[in-house]
Parts: sequence; structure tokens; C-alpha cells
Amino acid sequence: MRAVVVVMAPGASTAQVNAVVERIEAVGGEAFVSRGVERTIIGLVGDVAHFGSLNLRAMPGVGDVVRVSTPYKLVSRDHHPEMSTVLVGGVPIGPGRFTLIAGPCAVETPEQTLAAAQMAKAAGATLLRGGAYKPRTSPYAFQGLGEAGLRILADVRAETGMPIVTEVVDAHDVDLVAGYADMLQIGTRNAQNFGLLQAVGSVNKPVMLKRGMTATIEEWLMAAEYVAQRGNLDIVLCERGIRTFEQSTRNTLDISAVPVAHALSHLPVVVDPSHSGGRRDLVVPLTRAAIAVGADGVIVDVHPEPAAALCDGPQALVGDDLLELAAACRDLPPAVGRLPAGR
Ligand code: PEP
Ligand code: MN
Repeated sequence: MRAVVVVMAPGASTAQVNAVVERIEAVGGEAFVSRGVERTIIGLVGDVAHFGSLNLRAMPGVGDVVRVSTPYKLVSRDHHPEMSTVLVGGVPIGPGRFTLIAGPCAVETPEQTLAAAQMAKAAGATLLRGGAYKPRTSPYAFQGLGEAGLRILADVRAETGMPIVTEVVDAHDVDLVAGYADMLQIGTRNAQNFGLLQAVGSVNKPVMLKRGMTATIEEWLMAAEYVAQRGNLDIVLCERGIRTFEQSTRNTLDISAVPVAHALSHLPVVVDPSHSGGRRDLVVPLTRAAIAVGADGVIVDVHPEPAAALCDGPQALVGDDLLELAAACRDLPPAVGRLPAGR
């Protein structure tokens, strides 16, 4: 597949962007504008042969017009060699630092969520995770508190100052969840739900896109492209393990996906050592591996009382586990040229 991308010059005006879009639409093409922190990119959809005659390169504000052969262009590193930083409620995820995201798998009660947030913060976490809408494999399992859970998260954010990362499972809920969340999480089971991806691409909130448990890295990046194509380039990729023949862990953490994705895409990549292994004893070792391999952060389950957790208790950290997690996230990132978690 061949595609065309117009890269606007830094500082190009809205009028200049609009002029490019109008010229493309005039020949029956479609243009998708993505405004990044550094520059605006316009992805073109339509008959590539037509675009050549438009002389887009000569238009004011246009930096470059490039033909791309990868099936993802906006998230590709080809024409965006510098790595991106994504800001989540003011907290950066990206090169030069290591971000610890932690919290309960599911929001259960105000007390449980606050306790988990305090445990997370004490370990160096700067972002709070917690699901109010849970994509459970079984329809009989706890499905989450819904909007009541979002309200709890917002209260805990007010109390702790930690911006919140929370999952949205249905395109119809995107505006509601975005009204509370600082970052919208797309889970592995929805990683190729294209309508949902387009819906989160249309709101002005950063997105954490988990890798589908059976998705290749290319499919994962094309899923990210669905979000970017709708105008939202604030995407963080999350490797959370893939299905393999191995039975001793819930999924197999594909640690090589981190440097592979970094080589192909400018988006930050974080690792979920909790959902990949599904086992408490593996969370800290996998976190160390994630740091060593160059991940931009980890997202970890913690719970004040894992034995009573309504979701994923066996993988939640508690007590001394948190001290080990904190030590890893403080001491190891500087060895690979990053600031410690929390800095
Ligand atoms: C989660 O992070 O709560 C979750 C459900 O993860 P995943 O989609 O990776 O299974
Ligand atoms: Mn979970």
C-alpha cells in the first residue's frame, strides 16, 4: 500500500493547514489532520496518482510531502525520527525518563482506591491506574463500577494529585470516560476494535494502546494509526504479553517488542508486567527487564488486600513487593540514561 503524508513546517498556521485540506478534498481525496506537539501532519486517503499533480509541496506552510510504503504512516519513525513525549495530566512519558504507573486493577471502593494510590505514590508512581469498566473474559465476573468508579478515581486524583489512566471498552462511553480520565486505556481485548480506536482518536485525551494478545507488532502499530488518523497523536503503546503455547505464565511478555516498536515508531512504549505474567512474583523481575530493554515506563497492579481483590488479585503487589518495585524504578533507569521514576 502506498500512501502520502503532508508534513507541515513547524509553526504552520491553521489557515495554511486548511488550505492543504481544501486542495485535497477538491480532487475527491480525504485528509486527516493530526496535530502533534511539534508539528502537524496530514495523512491523505484516496487516489495517490491524483495528489502528485496538486503541487502540495509548493503551498505555504508545507514542510514536506512524503510517500510512505508502511501501512502506518503517522505513527512511523520514518519521517519523525525523534521520539515523542506524551503528557498525561502534565506528567511526561517518553525518552530520558522512566514513568511508573500503578494502581488497582479495578476500582472497588473509595477506601481501596485511595489506599492503592498511596501505595503507588510511595513507590514512585506519578500516574494512577484503575479500571471502572472492566473487559472481563467471563460475563459473570465483576464488570466494574462504571461511572461511580470514575467518580472515585476523580476524588482520589484530587486527594493525591495523581492523574488517572482508565480503560474505556465501548465507543459510546468515550466522551463520558474522557470527562474524568487523564488518559484513556484501550485494553488487549479491544486492541483491534476499530470503531473504538477511531472514537478515542477523536477526543483530546492521551491514549494508552495495549497490544492485542494475538496481534503482531505491525497490527499493533496499525491500530495506533487508527487513533492517529482521527487527529490524536498522543498515543503510548503498551506491551502486555501475547498468547503462546507456554502455560506457566498467563501470557508471554514479548520483551523484544519494546526495541522493535521503538525502531519502527516514534511513540513511547511502556510494559505491563502484571497482566503479562499474571503472577505477583514475576512483576519486579519483568519490570527490571522492561527498564533494561529501554521501555519508557511500566504499568503495575497494586492492591491493599490482594486476597480480597475483585479482579486479578494474584498479580497485585502489596507490602514489601512495593519496596522492591520502588528500588528497581529508582536505581535502574539511570543505568540506561533515564531519570528515575518520580523525577
Ligand atoms: C487492565 O490493564 O486492566 C487490563 C484489563 O489489561 P489487558 O487489557 O492488558 O488485559
Ligand atoms: Mn486486570
